[in-house]
Amino acid sequence: MSSVLLTGIGELVTNDPSLGDGGPLGVVTDAALVAEGGRVVWVGTAREAPPADAAQDVGGRAVIPGFVDSHSHLVFAGDRAAEFAARMSGQPYTAGGIRSTVAATRAATDEQLGATLTRLVAEMRRQGTTTVEVKSGYGLTVADEARSLALARRVTPETTYLGAHVVPPEYAEDAGAYVDLVTGPMLEACAPYARWVDAFCERGAFDVDQARAVLTAGMAAGLRPRLHANQLGHGPGVRLACELGAPAVDHCTYLDAADVEALASSGTVATLLPGVEFSTRQPYPDARALLDAGVTVALATDCNPGSSYTSSMPWCIATAVREMGMTPAEALWAATAGGARALERTDVGRLAPGARAHLAVLAAPSYLHLAYRPGVPLVAETWGD
Ligand SMILES: [Zn+2]
Repeated sequence: MSSVLLTGIGELVTNDPSLGDGGPLGVVTDAALVAEGGRVVWVGTAREAPPADAAQDVGGRAVIPGFVDSHSHLVFAGDRAAEFAARMSGQPYTAGGIRSTVAATRAATDEQLGATLTRLVAEMRRQGTTTVEVKSGYGLTVADEARSLALARRVTPETTYLGAHVVPPEYAEDAGAYVDLVTGPMLEACAPYARWVDAFCERGAFDVDQARAVLTAGMAAGLRPRLHANQLGHGPGVRLACELGAPAVDHCTYLDAADVEALASSGTVATLLPGVEFSTRQPYPDARALLDAGVTVALATDCNPGSSYTSSMPWCIATAVREMGMTPAEALWAATAGGARALERTDVGRLAPGARAHLAVLAAPSYLHLAYRPGVPLVAETWGD
């Protein structure tokens, strides 16, 4: 195994408070990093750097941990640009729009779905994302959910079974029978390809008892739980996720004081998805209130063709800073270490000895530029697996 010295780093974000400035981001200035065998083996100041087999000088640029995008839906066919345009002309978003993507996805070949998935993962990678979670949820038959997860498994270990995304049209009159399918034969076919189980707990999708049935069945099959909740209105989903000890509950746009208290006392990560509020013209979630209450916050894209067709974590950071009350440091932490917490991963989202050497070199002297220069392609280079 050969080692590589990355040096000339103007600002290195480690997310390790024992390093550098001692803050949550553990920022080391005039820094260097040594990687070997895909792992970080040393970080510190450039003048103290040990020798390595090869060296690369980044000329004063900033280096950050690769982004951990803990929420995406990349297995789909078709797009919904016309629906987006209609919303921007004043039509409201409803959960039912998912069904148009279901029809297109069922009609697509494995090759077509795989090509879209590969293209989007590459698009994310160019923007600094090195870990991505991918959900099923546009097949909604036993065979289509299982193939969606088998395809997702080719690009990431973080695969999520989301048979409970919406009730498909053929079960419109009998949602209970569909929940029986999701918790029975569909779960059995999907569990071998999935690490996580998820449900969309929302008016127009699944109620709290149905969501509880889906998550507990998945947990009994060895999957870890996560939940879509409180996106379109207030509901019991966030408290259900906390009660079940889910590592993350995602959206969290409409919360009351009891929800915030439940999140703060449970350790469940609140994953905020600003692309959704942008694309549906909804109010943004109040990240400031969550952070001030001591809740752990993650940021993710929710990349999907209906409610958030962005793959850009830098854009999410800029939007969270501008619209959700986060500081640039909090937003970067949420997009890296926060995502890692939401996926129960300790090997990514940080750059310290033992962690994976997943990083992004920015075409900027500081991570502050991620929010300061919105929409600008600032990721010069990405190191991942
Ligand atoms: Zn989602």
